[in-house]
Amino acid sequence: MSSTTSSTKQNAAQQLFDRARKVIPGGVNSPVRAFGSVGGTPRFIASASGAYITDTENQQYIDYVGSWGPMLLGHAHPDVIASVRAVAENGLSFGAPTELEVQMAELICEIVPSIESVRMCSSGTEATMSAIRLARGFTGRDDILKFEGCYHGHSDSLLVKAGSGALTLGVPSSPGIPADFAKHTLTLAFNDEEALRALFEKQGDSLACVIIEPIAGNMNFVEPLPGYLATLRELCTKHGTVLIFDEVMTGFRVARGGAQELYGVTPDITTLGKVIGGGMPVGAFGGRRDIMEQIAPTGPIYQAGTLSGNPIAMSAGIKTLQLLSADNFHSDLHATTGRLLDGMKSEASKHGVPICTAHAGGMFGLFFSEAEKITGFDAVMQCNTEHFKIFFHSMLDAGVYLAPSAYEAGFTSAAHTNKDIDDTIKAAGNAFAAIKGA
Ligand SMILES: *Cc1c(COP(=O)(O)O)cnc(C)c1O
Repeated sequence: MSSTTSSTKQNAAQQLFDRARKVIPGGVNSPVRAFGSVGGTPRFIASASGAYITDTENQQYIDYVGSWGPMLLGHAHPDVIASVRAVAENGLSFGAPTELEVQMAELICEIVPSIESVRMCSSGTEATMSAIRLARGFTGRDDILKFEGCYHGHSDSLLVKAGSGALTLGVPSSPGIPADFAKHTLTLAFNDEEALRALFEKQGDSLACVIIEPIAGNMNFVEPLPGYLATLRELCTKHGTVLIFDEVMTGFRVARGGAQELYGVTPDITTLGKVIGGGMPVGAFGGRRDIMEQIAPTGPIYQAGTLSGNPIAMSAGIKTLQLLSADNFHSDLHATTGRLLDGMKSEASKHGVPICTAHAGGMFGLFFSEAEKITGFDAVMQCNTEHFKIFFHSMLDAGVYLAPSAYEAGFTSAAHTNKDIDDTIKAAGNAFAAIKGA
């Protein structure tokens, strides 16, 4: 009986996916959603509430993707939904200033003190792309530096990573990016302080900016080594290079004031997204007033957006920022995430499967690796993806929804209860057993 039910479900999801693939490239509007690296059919989601998502077959999952970061409060938080509903009654978009935008900017400047002035846009990609243009316009320099394994959205200048090795001229990660653009994007290994110093020594004075995820969350979860961000700050200051922290993922999530609060290092410009929209399409970039004033209309550097500062998006974001400002919000979240990983580690060791974990606030990494600590891209690439695949599908079958890729960070929310965590750990125990049995 249950196997019939489960295969019927599988067929229904498969039919939807087939329909999708006829009219959408790969059946999805963002590539990782297609389950390409884990195999199987993606779940089509019908609704979500708190820590759970429910698919079109009415199967419920404990969710650790959280829409890839935005859902820090959990899904469909009643106060956020009420706020969006109320604002929607007044019209969806005006293309003129609103009080909500001012309120949003004031909140951001209060929560992230390095931001003196902030411009809203509609995605993280737009935020980082605009921040790069701003840094180039401000410094009059063309070259930028990014780090291997860091993702900053899909704009041309940023969709570049080097092969291995210290300094390499940029090689595009995707067809469609002219080599002439990519050559201005230098890349280094994340956490390699020596290579960083050498690069700055040689060409620091021609670098418009350095852009970095202060905790790398797009190659699983890699923390900066002690002192690394401080060195980066010191080198940028010395060479007149704009330091951009891309906190699209870490902002408001690893700590209220983001990774810059956690590590006590102050960037010149910060890019934000994900949590700041509470589930609506939002991005933002802001920082030093003298730099931000170079943007039109106060300055000559052009940046604009038809839907920038959209009132519905602002209302979801403002409510989210207000709620995450509650006392102990982030310490409680950090404890929840720690409880999850402690449980996973103990189950993994019980079954003799080597894993390595790390976490900050509502964000975590889980690596199938014997390493004590993962500190860079090469180590991430050496993790056991076969183990991950088995783990992923075993968890999915048990009602736990993880990112369908070994290279993504996991996300917890304020809605995850101790019972959710315990249920997840129990499922993980069976999944580790499945790995051992495979
Ligand atoms: C998600 C992400 C982006 C891109 O944001 P989009 O809203 O997907 O365009 C940029 N930088 C980082 C660090 C991200 O995690």
